[in-house]
Amino acid sequence: METDQLKIPKATAKRLPLYYRFIQNLYQSGKQRVSSAELSEAVKVDSATIRRDFSYFGALGKKGYGYNVQYLLSFFRKILNQDEITKVALIGVGNLGTALLKYNFTKNNNTKIVCAFDENQEKVSQKIGDITIHSMELLEQILSTEEIQVVILTVPALAAQLVTDRLAKTEIKGILNFTPARLNVPSHIRVHHIDLAVELQSFVYLIKHYSNEEVVVGD
Ligand code: ATP
Repeated sequence: METDQLKIPKATAKRLPLYYRFIQNLYQSGKQRVSSAELSEAVKVDSATIRRDFSYFGALGKKGYGYNVQYLLSFFRKILNQDEITKVALIGVGNLGTALLKYNFTKNNNTKIVCAFDENQEKVSQKIGDITIHSMELLEQILSTEEIQVVILTVPALAAQLVTDRLAKTEIKGILNFTPARLNVPSHIRVHHIDLAVELQSFVYLIKHYSNEEVVVGD
């Protein structure tokens, strides 16, 4: 199947890494097949949704048999491009930026932060783990030579759009925005916004007001 040409719903695409991580664990524990009910229990997505998600990729399983773990694993690895590492840069090595640099994303993932940038000259040339912090003057040059596709933005909110305007003129494809700022970008750049303060606040609100209702993952 031509997996690169598949157009699947965004909600399904978002759940794929979740499935992949669980299937990887199953494979490592030696399990050979898994039912959609077992998958459902483990990833907390209802089994009808799982069957619908998997149906976009053709017949991955058989009725009464479930899914072959090794087949699923190689299928998801291919579709998620797990054999190809996506290089990521981080801009703004403050408290959050440092924590993200220290987090080992490659353990379960096909992404790797390869470099970092900061405008504070005292931080420039320092290393967090094996990642060097570069001066903002070298931003465009290093993004290009390292063939960076994704940037994690952890600068203060006030600096976010200015930095984004520079990124808009580079070849990067996406920005993972951890700042509270809403960013304006050209259409060839995708922005994914993660505002931890808002997430926490809305989570607390949900717990207080909807404590007896189940929250559906990925919706
Ligand atoms: P810290 O206490 O280390 O400053 P913080 O997370 O509280 O951490 P912030 O003010 O949020 O600090 O800044 C995050 C980081 O972004 C800092 O290291 C700062 O030097 C850097 N920074 C600020 N403005 C820019 C900019 N325009 N370009 C690149 N980096 C920037």
